[in-house]
Amino acid sequence: MSGRNPRAIAPAAIDTPADWLLTPDHRGTTPITEIECTTCLDGPGPLCDEPTATAWCLAHARHASHDTFRRITTDFHRAVLTPHTPGG
Ligand SMILES: [Zn+2]
Repeated sequence: MSGRNPRAIAPAAIDTPADWLLTPDHRGTTPITEIECTTCLDGPGPLCDEPTATAWCLAHARHASHDTFRRITTDFHRAVLTPHTPGG
């Protein structure tokens, strides 16, 4: 393994003139997951775990009879300038 994050997008994969690399940015937070009802847009706010999201949806379905939900994940990324690789 090269030690690079496997989710990073190599400069060759994107059309830019510079040696930029897009990487996940977890300096402030890990990805944030939210879930909301698609009928009334109610939701519990940012969540940390799947069981909490599931419990909220099932409770909402039970009390409001709304049965469709949207999961929204915010995953931050950062473009960083990398050393130029001649010929690369
Ligand atoms: Zn609802």
